[in-house]
Amino acid sequence: MKKQYLLLLFVAGLLTFVSACKNEAVYKTLIITGQNNHNWKASSPVLKQILDETGMFTADILITPEKGGDMNTFNPDFSKYKLIVLDYNGDSWSEKTNAAFLEYVKNGGGVVVYHAADNSFPAWKEYNEMIGLGGWGNRTEKDGPYVYYKNNQLVIDTAAGKGGSHGKRREFLVRARITDHPITKGLPVRWLHGNDELYSQLRGPAKNMQILATAFADSAKGGGTRRDEPMLMVISYEKGRIFHTAMGHADEGGGPAMQCVGFIVTLQRGAEWAVTGDVTQPIPWDFPSAAGVVLRPDFKEMKLDEAMANVGSYDIAKSTKYFSYVQSHIRNLAGDEQGLLNLEKMMVKVLTSNEATVEAKKLLLRELSWMGSDYSVPAIKNLVSNTELKDEAEFALARLQPVK
Ligand code: ZN
Repeated sequence: MKKQYLLLLFVAGLLTFVSACKNEAVYKTLIITGQNNHNWKASSPVLKQILDETGMFTADILITPEKGGDMNTFNPDFSKYKLIVLDYNGDSWSEKTNAAFLEYVKNGGGVVVYHAADNSFPAWKEYNEMIGLGGWGNRTEKDGPYVYYKNNQLVIDTAAGKGGSHGKRREFLVRARITDHPITKGLPVRWLHGNDELYSQLRGPAKNMQILATAFADSAKGGGTRRDEPMLMVISYEKGRIFHTAMGHADEGGGPAMQCVGFIVTLQRGAEWAVTGDVTQPIPWDFPSAAGVVLRPDFKEMKLDEAMANVGSYDIAKSTKYFSYVQSHIRNLAGDEQGLLNLEKMMVKVLTSNEATVEAKKLLLRELSWMGSDYSVPAIKNLVSNTELKDEAEFALARLQPVK
């Protein structure tokens, strides 16, 4: 073999390896739900799909005891996660769990506060500092000022009155107030949001908080404050970063508020920022402008069979969702040898099918190179003669059959 060719092979292998490593470096995420005045059974799997689709997060959904249940049994190990997403508006957690959550945030844990989670825990001082602003739960002037924009000026309004309201559901324009923050940088300054509740009159301590975007609560359109109300906020709490989106009222399957590309993309970007302090995700081509709402009405709960049936037709330019699902499934099976072997058999079936694309086979070979077993070896050996897959196949074989 010529030296140049060996070097090329080495570089190709290295690139594949780097890429495979990158795919493994995902942020473990915990979505907490189980009590809410909203349809949390609808919203939580949509939140999971939105995050998992980035390939950057792998989200578990944790369901608390029911309302009135024994909250002492709710004791998650927050430290196992890089990101906690709160889709929860319900009973107080135990003091022990509150303390653990506080410790997690103080130590630099990332948090996403989603929609009615800012209604929760009105009496928990530190929680209200983390969310910046909240509503309902008998929040009043005792809990902090109203914060909003009026005539393009930020207003800190200490007037007496209840916290939290919204007018009739409708589409509304979201307007960036800070355009050089990693979350909003490069996004349109104004974009039209899918039919949602426009949370208004939020009030709270608003310490260490920046308002990234607002929406005008127009009274002419069914009950509004005629103020530009905060929609997207970031808060720092000691070393922790919190992204707060007031949007996303859930209908079955997510509905227009959660299927709105503006909601989806700001949530994905906000989640990354909460973990790392930066955003590396590109802005998708379908991000809405002020001219019209753009929805991605493709939410569905995916099953492994469905993902495996579709992963073979994987087109990297169109969607990563089936492959992301398979990847996240592999991770969830860590330590389960029988489960991993069953999945490996399904992957090999795709690998040896004539219908599957080269791109899909390359990605599966990368995964098999670290999670596969002897079972895959004969099928992968057969691919060495395929010029398009030779490098990936040899790389996988080298990892599955190290030279002794
Ligand atoms: Zn709502």
